[in-house]
Amino acid sequence: MKVSTPDPALVLLVGPSGAGKSTFAQAHFRPTEIVSSDAMRAMLADDPGDQDASPEAFQVLAILVNGRLRRRLTTVVDATNLRAANRKRFRQLAARYGLPVVAIAFDLPAELYLARNAQRADRVVDDAVVADQAERMARALADLPGEGYDALYVLHEPTLSQVGVERQRG
Ligand code: GDP
Ligand code: MG
Repeated sequence: MKVSTPDPALVLLVGPSGAGKSTFAQAHFRPTEIVSSDAMRAMLADDPGDQDASPEAFQVLAILVNGRLRRRLTTVVDATNLRAANRKRFRQLAARYGLPVVAIAFDLPAELYLARNAQRADRVVDDAVVADQAERMARALADLPGEGYDALYVLHEPTLSQVGVERQRG
């Protein structure tokens, strides 16, 4: 399977913890193109899992996304992006600069999110939190097609590691 993304674009990764978002982002995009909520929490609180740091982490993340999009630089939001309101805010940001938005959703069986979350080296989110995220993922998958992305990709196991990303220079 091939993901085709305009360049520049805002790329929203959508999926619970353990879905493979960070692995995918790091495999296909430059480090400076990826803005990650975990990285922001780590910068703010020395702990990528510190949820108390989330409000500030998302403020900083939004500043980075805004600054990059204003410069017309491809930007990947590596966060769960499970809330429709958050996705909408990012789409509005891209629209401000006339940039396309691509959504890449990681649709895996719930057990796989839990199993991969457990094997993560960097952080282990509570099973209950991941189970809740898996439920919200089902809602997100239903909502995404109607949200007006320039492209929407829904990735399924076991093809994840075989997915290629192709950029269309705009
Ligand atoms: P994130 O929480 O969505 O950012 O997920 P990560 O990228 O941190 O991946 C969670 C765990 O699953 C890590 O231990 C990864 O090494 C592993 N993982 C990620 N993608 C794949 C994949 O395509 N196949 C397999 N087998 N493991 C993966
Ligand atoms: Mg991650």
